[in-house]
Amino acid sequence: MRIVLLGPPGVGKGTQGRRLAVELGGALISTGEILREAVARRTPLGVEAQRQMERGLLVPDDVMIGLVRERTLEPDARNGFVLDGFPRTVPQAVALDELLEERGLKLCAVVSLAAPVEELVRRLSARRECPVCKRAYNAVGAPSRDGVHCDDHPGTVLVHRADDAEETIRRRLEVYATQTAPLVGHYRKLGRLVEVPGVGEMETVYAALKQALNGGSRAR
Ligand code: AMP
Repeated sequence: MRIVLLGPPGVGKGTQGRRLAVELGGALISTGEILREAVARRTPLGVEAQRQMERGLLVPDDVMIGLVRERTLEPDARNGFVLDGFPRTVPQAVALDELLEERGLKLCAVVSLAAPVEELVRRLSARRECPVCKRAYNAVGAPSRDGVHCDDHPGTVLVHRADDAEETIRRRLEVYATQTAPLVGHYRKLGRLVEVPGVGEMETVYAALKQALNGGSRAR
């Protein structure tokens, strides 16, 4: 299975994608997470990406395409992968199809998750992340057991991502609307899109996602 999770920041791509990848036995490839690690380690990629990320803007397409080209070749992705945060532009989507085609592969499905903007802002403002396992919590709706530490790493204090500050959130949502939302139409036209509401309980959204994927037998 090779699945793209499409949707605005805060819609739950990471949370749902992590679960889906485990269940389907593939890798969760989160380009934002790869970039944040590169920034933390001050690698050349991190140095190049940091400025754009801090401003809520996109990292150039060629950088991202190169990154995904490499990452999708790693052993854990051999059985398939769930892409969270890529593609984010039409050129990235075209490049993804091309690089898969070179390998005799195709995307199985593109899942579009959607939620109202104010809900996204609310969720992102309250989002907390475990710096070790990257599990996401929500300080208001879905806190960790003690509200401070990760449930799976009791010694680790949850952090608020630097780009989850309100002004940057608004910028990221604008960037999504102008640069990424056109992908919904792009994939719909290609007949590849599966649309799932991203509102409600995590379990409900996951059940809807699975049902939508199974409906077309596309997740296998
Ligand atoms: P995310 O964790 O997916 O919200 O991504 C965090 C940030 O990483 C974004 O705001 C962008 O600056 C950058 N980024 C992640 N994925 C991409 C991508 N596919 N194309 C360009 N920039 C990206």
